[in-house]
Amino acid sequence: MKPSRKFGEAFLYPYNMKKIEHLGIAVKDLGAANRTYEALLGTSSYKEEAVESEGVVTSFFKVGDSKIELLASTDPEGPIAKFIEKRGEGIHHIAFEVEDIRAEMKRLSDEGFTILNEEPKLGADNKLICFVHPKSANGVLIELCQEIK
Ligand code: ZN
Repeated sequence: MKPSRKFGEAFLYPYNMKKIEHLGIAVKDLGAANRTYEALLGTSSYKEEAVESEGVVTSFFKVGDSKIELLASTDPEGPIAKFIEKRGEGIHHIAFEVEDIRAEMKRLSDEGFTILNEEPKLGADNKLICFVHPKSANGVLIELCQEIK
């Protein structure tokens, strides 16, 4: 159910999005993409991590307060392999850091967004994550992430 609210009307929820935590970029070859982004950002990747549930291996770069996450598929049938097959390499998702992921999932679901996970799951970089369907967000896959403290 969508709350009745006029466009532009100011509103604030107690558990608002905190910042863009990272941009996820789908790449074919993680080693080659690492070299490209090292050259681009002038810094090395600070972490590589496999996320078996997603069939990906990831690499993280710090850019000020935000991060870049490179994602390469380890599974030819996995979501990143399918994304690249359909759309080529490129920006795959935008991740927002949230204070309370369950509260934010409930809020977005009440707003009419399609949440792709019933429960938050364990993502890379010590985070609980969930995804919002790109059809709900003008073609952009949205990730919510909450740091595990
Ligand atoms: Zn991500």
